[in-house]
Amino acid sequence: MSDCLFCKIAEKKIPSKIVHEDDRTVVFEDIHPQAPTHLLIIPKTHLASLSEAKQADRDLLGHLLLLCATIAEARGLTQSGYRVVSNTGAQAGQSVFHLHLHLLGGRPMHWPPG
Ligand code: AMP
Ligand code: ZN
Repeated sequence: MSDCLFCKIAEKKIPSKIVHEDDRTVVFEDIHPQAPTHLLIIPKTHLASLSEAKQADRDLLGHLLLLCATIAEARGLTQSGYRVVSNTGAQAGQSVFHLHLHLLGGRPMHWPPG
């Protein structure tokens, strides 16, 4: 999508601090980090949110989630714990309408979220 911020980041038309890339995903640092580790895991293909995902996206969604676990492990977060969040829709706080997983870790977290 030409006017989508995260599509532009995936296409490197807008700079970001990319920490991982493969054929289907890009992982980069959140510009306003809410924890010592705050990464955004996105598919290269445009999906507005989890609500738009279809059965055909099952493998991609699994890949995104497992990538979170792999990156968390590489950063030494597995033992302490970390949080994976996908804000879906305006009321949930989604502000960029390109599906993304937040990977947050490195500090204690509370529940329920605000
Ligand atoms: P959400 O509010 O769940 O849609 O998350 C969007 C996230 O994107 C927020 O945490 C923002 O800080 C982050 N963000 C917005 N613009 C950029 C950017 N140019 N580079 C990196 N992260 C961004
Ligand atoms: Zn997009």
